[in-house]
Amino acid sequence: MLRITNTHTGKKEPFIPLEEGKVRMYVCGPTVYGLIHLGNARPAVVFDAFRRYLEYRGFKVTMVQNFTDIDDKIINAANAVGVDYKRYADRFIAEYWVDAHLLGLRAANFHPRTTDYLPEIIDIIQRLIVKGHAYVADGDVYFSVKSFPRYGELSNRKIEEMLSGARVDPSENKRFPLDFALWKAAKPGEPSWESPWGNGRPGWHIECSAMSMSLLGESFDIHAGGNDLVFPHHENEKAQSEALTGKPFARYWMHNGMLRFSGEKMAKSVGNIFNAREAVMRFGRDAVRLFLLSKHYTSPIDLSEEFLQDSRKAARRVRDTLKRAQNAGIAEKFVKADPWVMEVESRFEEALDDDFNTPVAVSLIFELVNILNTALDNNDEERAARAYDLIVRRFGPVLGLFDLQEEERKRADEENLFDSVMNVILDTRNHLRKQKQYELADQIRDKLEKLGIKLMDTPQGTQFTLDADG
Ligand SMILES: [Zn+2]
Repeated sequence: MLRITNTHTGKKEPFIPLEEGKVRMYVCGPTVYGLIHLGNARPAVVFDAFRRYLEYRGFKVTMVQNFTDIDDKIINAANAVGVDYKRYADRFIAEYWVDAHLLGLRAANFHPRTTDYLPEIIDIIQRLIVKGHAYVADGDVYFSVKSFPRYGELSNRKIEEMLSGARVDPSENKRFPLDFALWKAAKPGEPSWESPWGNGRPGWHIECSAMSMSLLGESFDIHAGGNDLVFPHHENEKAQSEALTGKPFARYWMHNGMLRFSGEKMAKSVGNIFNAREAVMRFGRDAVRLFLLSKHYTSPIDLSEEFLQDSRKAARRVRDTLKRAQNAGIAEKFVKADPWVMEVESRFEEALDDDFNTPVAVSLIFELVNILNTALDNNDEERAARAYDLIVRRFGPVLGLFDLQEEERKRADEENLFDSVMNVILDTRNHLRKQKQYELADQIRDKLEKLGIKLMDTPQGTQFTLDADG
């Protein structure tokens, strides 16, 4: 039985979907005003993997992840470079897809954009006004927090606490400091849409309610995002949605911990890997995903170059072992689900059923890599084939790790020549060894080693590894 930490109750709870066998989930997506950084990549990778696990567990998952394509940040950034806000947002949606590919993120079932949901947003606001949960003030529309007594329930905050921290902008016409904007009256030079309250644009929170309820229904299973969104974004989404429908909005709220940048020195040194794209370019997809999945999703992660380097070395070790198994013909073998395979699978499932404990699942994969290496050393093909199958075909795809198809494609693109040249060198060296010209063969080995290419003579033939990790 899968259990997850529900922010709403603060407890680890059994996960029971509204409809048996089906999961409807909404993940708050990026505001598209720039390239995503590793902090944005964390929820994307974590909930991508979580969705894969739900599917592995047999659930039919409908996943929605939005693009916020209208927002102060987008308008300001677009103005700064002198382009229309829409062109600007389109550009960074396109960039997002580049990064999604680099990070190995599967597309959700729906990727709605805020500006495609204006009729739905306006309809919800209208109904909230009619029900007395919202009011119009000078072209703005605000949600009335006092009209929803359970406000604060999700983030576990008391109204008095929230009031003490509330800042009121004198230009706003709120009746109560915690009220929040559902609709903002148009300001000169800003993009705007027609509405019953005059031209304007939607507030941030209402868009997620409109997109999630339109695509998933008034009640759905999981609402997810970074824990910086719990308050006010998710608290507000919940209040306005439940005030509207009188039904529970999301049943489970899942939040990932933040990526931390502590200390100025570290901030400087991590400046260039902060960007998700650069991190993947420098360390590789598997390293970045390992880095993000090696800590429990609810915990914070400190961004460090060292941790990313270690992840890269670990990923390289796995790949070298998988390659060794492929060269030995292990990949083609068929594997029966014997008791050992079933035991390992149940350990994997136990870990991920326990609040999606990816650190334990990742360490299980490394354990299998060791088993695979030993089995290859001992020419134990049966065991090697079982371990290989579990890594590559069962567990890797759940965490989005060690995608060999991608590897093959990349190899075909880039590394083909290098591999061919290496094969020529290795063939020549083997030839020399057969002719007992060991001195020459050793010279080749030593010279390659100086270039960071290490040769290993194994029962399956000569292998090489690139020791570029320093
Ligand atoms: Zn949202």
